[in-house]
Order: sequence, then structure tokens, then C-alpha cells
Amino acid sequence: RFITFEGGEGSGKSTQIKRLADRLNATKLKTIVTREPGGSPGAEIMRHLVLSGMGKLLGPDAETLLFAAARDDHVRTVIEPALNQGTWVLCDRFADSTRAYQGSLGSVPEGVINAMQRVTIGDLKPDVTIVLDLPVEIGLQRAAARRGSGTPDRFEGESLKFHQDLREAYRRIAAGDPGRCVLIDASGDADTVAARIWAAVRDRVFS
Ligand code: C5P
Repeated sequence: RFITFEGGEGSGKSTQIKRLADRLNATKLKTIVTREPGGSPGAEIMRHLVLSGMGKLLGPDAETLLFAAARDDHVRTVIEPALNQGTWVLCDRFADSTRAYQGSLGSVPEGVINAMQRVTIGDLKPDVTIVLDLPVEIGLQRAAARRGSGTPDRFEGESLKFHQDLREAYRRIAAGDPGRCVLIDASGDADTVAARIWAAVRDRVFS
């Protein structure tokens, strides 16, 4: 089984993916947690390239191609081999991030993104995509609290409107593919959100 987590900054993806993995591991299901951009040695190098200052040297198409190259490596070396062995794969961000960030918020046309997805993921489709949704003010506060005095987030300088548009992009993606996506209210404490996610996964995967 393949489950992906999506959402804006501070939506709690990393916390919640770990909670779900713990829960699945407790049922003796073999589970791996991975992430994008990155997730394989080669893709982590590309993650570093994009997220470090070097990313600013790239135009939107080059950036999207680099994300696509990272995904291609990640899918081929980590995700597909694990799924083929019957391991459950939980992935922090996947193809919907490209549609939201580079497509809806960036300037990359949908046709270009579709072509890249055909090459990188082909028919591979998550069984469930958890889309964590919450008011942007709360997400940004959480992201700032988590960061403390650490390195500012890539989109730190962007306006509230940018983050609101991102939220809308994810809500549209979720509404457009209700068979795969579940929009989860990510406000509230971690236990409450984890319970909502578990209920959604249980309904979709175990029933
Ligand atoms: O999920 P995480 O915070 O680790 O992602 C790293 C950064 O890369 C985030 O700032 C995220 O918004 C950005 N990103 C992006 N385009 C993607 C995926 C992630 O700009 N397709």
C-alpha cells in the first residue's frame, strides 16, 4: 500500500506520518516512511540543490525538472522496490506537491507537469492521499515555532496570499480526486488529528 501526505507549511505532515507509521507498525505491518523532495541518496542531493541558495539560480522549468529527476530516482530505487515486497510506503509529499507548488503557484503549465509525471511515476498512484488542511495563520505560526532560530523556510518571505492560494490549490486537488484524497482538518492537537487520519485510513484501506 502507498499512502502520501500533502499540505502547506506547518500542516503537521512529518508529525502525523510518524504517528500513522507507529500505528501500522504496531499491527505488525512492515512500513517505511520516506519523503520528497528526496527520499533516496540521489534525490536527497537534488533536494539540497533546490532548497539551498542554489535553487534561486534555476528558472521554474529547470526547478521542476530537478524535482522530477529526484522523484524518478526515489520511485525507482525506494518506493517501487518496497511496494513490490509488500511493504507499506508512507511518503511525506509526492506528485500533488508538484501540482500545487510548481503548477498552481508557479508558472509551469499543466501539460508540462503531466508529461513529467508520465515519465517519473507512470501508473503508480497512491492508494490514499491525506491532505492536511488548516487556516494558513495557524500553519505559519506552527512552522515558525518549530523552526525556532533555525534556517528560514523556503517560502518564509511569501505573502499570506501565497499560502492561502496554496491551501486552495490543495483543496481543489482533493476535491478533484475524492477516490484517492481525503481532506483532513489539521487544526487541533496532534492526537486529535492522528485520530482523524487513522479513521480515514481504516475506512479506506481496511474495510
Ligand atoms: O515538506 P518539506 O517542508 O520538507 O519541503 C521542503 C520545501 O520544499 C518546502 O518549503 C516546500 O514547500 C518545498 N517544496 C516545493 N515544491 C515541491 C515540494 C516541496 O517548493 N514540489
